[in-house]
Order: sequence, then structure tokens, then C-alpha cells
Amino acid sequence: MPVRTIVGQKIDLESQMCSLCNSVPETKLHLFLYYPQTQPLWFMSPESLRMSNMTFNSYDDFPKFLLYNHGSGRNQDFVLYDSCVFYQIWKASNVNIFDNIPFELMKISKLIGKPSPSSPLCSSHQRSMI
Ligand SMILES: [Zn+2]
Repeated sequence: MPVRTIVGQKIDLESQMCSLCNSVPETKLHLFLYYPQTQPLWFMSPESLRMSNMTFNSYDDFPKFLLYNHGSGRNQDFVLYDSCVFYQIWKASNVNIFDNIPFELMKISKLIGKPSPSSPLCSSHQRSMI
């Protein structure tokens, strides 16, 4: 995933700082887990994940935690929710970089939706796939 610290290893960038908060280097761990505006999205998940209480040595440990270490026989809605969170964070980050549209937590939360039969998750993603 081309976050600035990874792209910066290949080409010269003006800055490797986070494009959203400009306070720390932009890493996958920061963008998806610890950026203050993404933490509430995980807390709003059906599992109410508190990123401030969780430590991962590498970004790759987090999807593994979600898929393998967070209980066997996970509810498929949880897996779908987690996938939607990743997708919407990535999309919102890119829209911020390329279109200069702010990362708005509540707007992103609304795009993710709630896991219920009457409210499809990630509705914007599903629509874009049609
Ligand atoms: Zn940041």
C-alpha cells in the first residue's frame, strides 16, 4: 500500500509526514489504526475495538488479528465491516490527497454503515462495483 514512508523509499518526496494530520510519518499503522480520526471507526465497529489499548508491531499483524486471533467462527458481518473500514479509510485518504477534500469522520462512518439486514455495509463501494 503506497503510503508516504513506502513511496519515499523509492522516489524523493517533499514530505513523508501524514497527509491528513502532518504530525507523524505516514505509515500504514498510523493511517489505518492510530490516526485520531480512524480510531473511532474501529470503536464504532461491532467489536468496539479500542486502538489506544492495542499495540501491533507491524501493520500486517492487525488484519491477522482481525481474521485469526479475534475469535474463531467470526461473524461474517464483522469481516465485511472491517473490510469496509479499510476501504473507506484508504478512499478518504486518497480523496484528501488528490481532491483536497477533508477526511470527515462522520461522513466516512455513514459510508461504512452498520451491520444490519436493513442497512447494507459499504454502500458506496457496492454501488461503485455495479
Ligand atoms: Zn496523521
